[in-house]
Amino acid sequence: MLIESSQMPDQQGYFGEYGGQLIPPSLIEIMNEIDQAYEEVKKSESFQNELADLYANFVGRPSPIYFAKNLTEKMGGARIFLKREDLNHTGAHKINHCIGEALLAKHMGKTKVIAETGAGQHGVALATACALVGIDCEIHMGEVDIAKEHPNVTKMKILGCKLVAVSSGTRTLKDAVDSAFEEYLKDPINSIYAIGSVVGPHPFPKIVRDFQSIVGKEARAQFLSSENKLPDVLIACVGGGSNAMGLFTEFLNDDNVKMIGVEPAGKGLHTDQHAATLSLGKKGAIHGFECYTLQDDEGNPLPVYSIASGLDYPGVGPQHCHLKDIQRVEYVAIDDQECLDAFMLLSRLEGIIPALESAHAIAQAMKLAKDMPSDSTILVNLSGRGDKDADFVSELLGL
Ligand SMILES: *Cc1c(COP(=O)(O)O)cnc(C)c1O
Repeated sequence: MLIESSQMPDQQGYFGEYGGQLIPPSLIEIMNEIDQAYEEVKKSESFQNELADLYANFVGRPSPIYFAKNLTEKMGGARIFLKREDLNHTGAHKINHCIGEALLAKHMGKTKVIAETGAGQHGVALATACALVGIDCEIHMGEVDIAKEHPNVTKMKILGCKLVAVSSGTRTLKDAVDSAFEEYLKDPINSIYAIGSVVGPHPFPKIVRDFQSIVGKEARAQFLSSENKLPDVLIACVGGGSNAMGLFTEFLNDDNVKMIGVEPAGKGLHTDQHAATLSLGKKGAIHGFECYTLQDDEGNPLPVYSIASGLDYPGVGPQHCHLKDIQRVEYVAIDDQECLDAFMLLSRLEGIIPALESAHAIAQAMKLAKDMPSDSTILVNLSGRGDKDADFVSELLGL
């Protein structure tokens, strides 16, 4: 099946100790309705066919696996392959779950999809999916982010979504979440909240993971067919964790496949400017679920930072927390400088400009490849393209 995946989470939405529904009882009921509707449509052949058709003919799936020969020769060691999610329509993996969420909303008879966006990547992918599916879309975005992310703001408007400028608090992502959630609570019967990663209360971590699992399903088959074996190591960057879960899920039972999630070390793990939630956080709660968090002693989320705005979240998907605890996945951190070096190197050696988020995963692959034998392989999820980052990087480096 296209979106079928593992047994987890349990009935209460827990992956080990993480996940769940830390929300008011009235909302739990609504979340459980969404879960029920999702479990039903996921088994329906017409839903599967509609999704498969859109993945193929709208998104452009399957995305290829590319052998990065020049990068491999430069590093000298393991052969490095890239899963090209950057080639998807709208330029990243996010469209995979946004189309799924918009289709689910339509099948449930919802009339409006609501979400927040930080840098605007989730907003654009969702506005795209809603235009396609034919459902109203309302995106909440902080005024500070609106001023900073002009191209994405313009795209969302062209795509026909209603953009709500949030003027409370620091006027950034966290305030946008609060504002969008408030709007959602006004009419949770007719609207649906479309979460942007494998986070939030159950069932969202599961739903988003399942829609993203197409990445690993394709990758596993493609790799077996071209290399006659599985990759030795998988690497993906982790913000909320959706592109990483998308790649990892299909390989979780392959004990010989090592998996590495890469968090942003920002200006260094010894500073307070990073977003390395799994590396340095502790168990807590945020946005309706339990996970590792970066928070102060009173449990308030700490300000987080990364050069890649898609990675700066003070929580992380509950399944990642579980996979860390059971040591199935190793989590490491890459700092801004290593990210920028990888960004430039991949651009100049392969003619592929990666998203700054994805460049964290590339940087980890470069570090690792050197010390691995030349008959070993690394598969990196290239979660998105770097067009959105080109101006910023060229200014930063004075190009
Ligand atoms: C949003 C984004 C990410 C981070 O989100 P995850 O849920 O951790 O995958 C990574 N890469 C790109 C290109 C993004 O746009």
